[in-house]
Amino acid sequence: MITEEMKTQLKQHFENIKKKITIEYSSKNHDKKAELVQMLEDTAALSDSISLKEVSSEDLRSGVSFAIKNDTNQKAIFSGIPGGHEFNSYILALLHIGGHAIKLDNSIQSFVKTINQPLKFTTYVSLSCHNCPDIVQMLNQFAALNGNIENEMIDGGVFPELIEENNIQGVPTVFLNGESFLTGKAEPAKIIEKLLSLNLKTEAANDSTSSANQKTYDVSIIGSGPAGVSAAIYAARKGLEVLLIGDRIGGQVRDTMDIENLISNIKTTGPTLSNDLESHLQEYKNINIRKLIKVQEIVPGPTHVLKLKTGEEVETKTIILATGAKWRELNVPGERENIGKGVAYCPHCDGPFFKGKDVAVVGGGNSGVEAALDLSGIVNKVTLLEFSDELKADKVLRDKLATLNNIETITSAQTIEIDAKDDAVTSLQYKDRTSGDTKSVDLAGVFIQIGLVPNSEFVKGIVDMTEYGEIKVDDHCQTNIPGVFAAGDVTTTPFKQIVIAIGEGAKAALSAFNHLLLKAAA
Ligand code: FAD
Repeated sequence: MITEEMKTQLKQHFENIKKKITIEYSSKNHDKKAELVQMLEDTAALSDSISLKEVSSEDLRSGVSFAIKNDTNQKAIFSGIPGGHEFNSYILALLHIGGHAIKLDNSIQSFVKTINQPLKFTTYVSLSCHNCPDIVQMLNQFAALNGNIENEMIDGGVFPELIEENNIQGVPTVFLNGESFLTGKAEPAKIIEKLLSLNLKTEAANDSTSSANQKTYDVSIIGSGPAGVSAAIYAARKGLEVLLIGDRIGGQVRDTMDIENLISNIKTTGPTLSNDLESHLQEYKNINIRKLIKVQEIVPGPTHVLKLKTGEEVETKTIILATGAKWRELNVPGERENIGKGVAYCPHCDGPFFKGKDVAVVGGGNSGVEAALDLSGIVNKVTLLEFSDELKADKVLRDKLATLNNIETITSAQTIEIDAKDDAVTSLQYKDRTSGDTKSVDLAGVFIQIGLVPNSEFVKGIVDMTEYGEIKVDDHCQTNIPGVFAAGDVTTTPFKQIVIAIGEGAKAALSAFNHLLLKAAA
């Protein structure tokens, strides 16, 4: 299973192991035990710091369970053979439990280290899940930082009875101390946010406030999507001291696959573009990047203060709000699981992928009807579904709709499920709210157009915004508060697109620079 080439690479990586570690595997029987033991023996043979031991321990649930332990009580448990996408999780667990440096923000590490109560995570995965390793690896890092925390990865394919018993509908699914903690596609930042919100017992000494707040930044950018990254690079190129705080680099871009309208880049993908944004940021030493963190509150003043969710406070001369937006979701079965497999939110972006096919647009407001009109020129047929008994869109749009014969409008339709087969959407079910009957439409794509929600709640009452929560900006990205700028999807700037967010981010940074110059000259 581990090739000779991989062994050579792993041997080099294992030179980073600083603490002696033991892999303890269960003495129980299992059909796959021989395969597991072979893999463990192959790995243990690559480093003098790793030893292997068969144990009869109640901590190990089956004959394909093993724990990676060090002598200071940190451990990560695996139930199932961590192949496929989880192989990296296994190797990283060896390195991290073995004392290799963990690349997590310092304030997050400090917080995790102070947790003073037992946290037992159980993470159900499938070996073909792309998103699961991020979650397993994050929780294993917590376990490597604090002996009170334990994580067990369980391969659902090997334990179908546990999947049934726990009614697991999607992976990853995480339980904390036996209670549901997280289900379905999730970002590591979500785990940190949930953990911070749990009111956990922590030791008094928390040094999370120590590092960043000693310095006053010239510009602090909140949100690391295209707008925030662009603002950070433009500000850095002006020689400013920049802080960029965000839960994930790339923002919404991380949620999409094919991108074909980023001018000069004929075709890219969300993960590639997000990695490119991160590489570009790393070219600038004067950008302090704080990943996986969110800002809780801003306190404007002669020097503004950012309060982070970790409890840390940061001083800054200017702020750029680039916290983006999220598409409002229908919250029906089949929606989240099929994003990128037929469920889409952006007709400008994803419409061309449905050329000649049948699609539905859910939502009969202005954005839904505009989406149906746009799509009708590309796809074979659009079914437009509206919950209430009439379309809410402006008359001019409704009139245009009436002129097109490949759009069918259905009102009083409550979408209840999206169905897929072999990773592709096949139909949508809706309830006819007049008759109560459930009806089905065969299609290849569903565009959900029930609104965008700006991520502006945390500055409500501080900066001026519209009734929809969009931050009001002038043509220099200036908000109503001097020194506080905003850019991208969170603002009133029309058309929510990557190139527009990038442009607006650049503009906000240049405006912040001018503001600092004028202030210095005053
Ligand atoms: P975002 O990308 O939303 O980034 C903002 C970031 O800030 C997010 O990570 C958010 O979680 C974070 N944040 C929020 N609150 C806080 C806080 N308090 N503290 C710290 N961070 C915070 N556009 C195109 O041009 N082409 C496409 O093909 C395309 N496809 C898309 C497909 C999908 C599925 C989606 C959802 C969008 C797509 N878009 C596309 C739209 C495009 O992604 C957005 O217009 C763009 O990402 C907006 O950039 P932004 O930086 O303003 O915000």
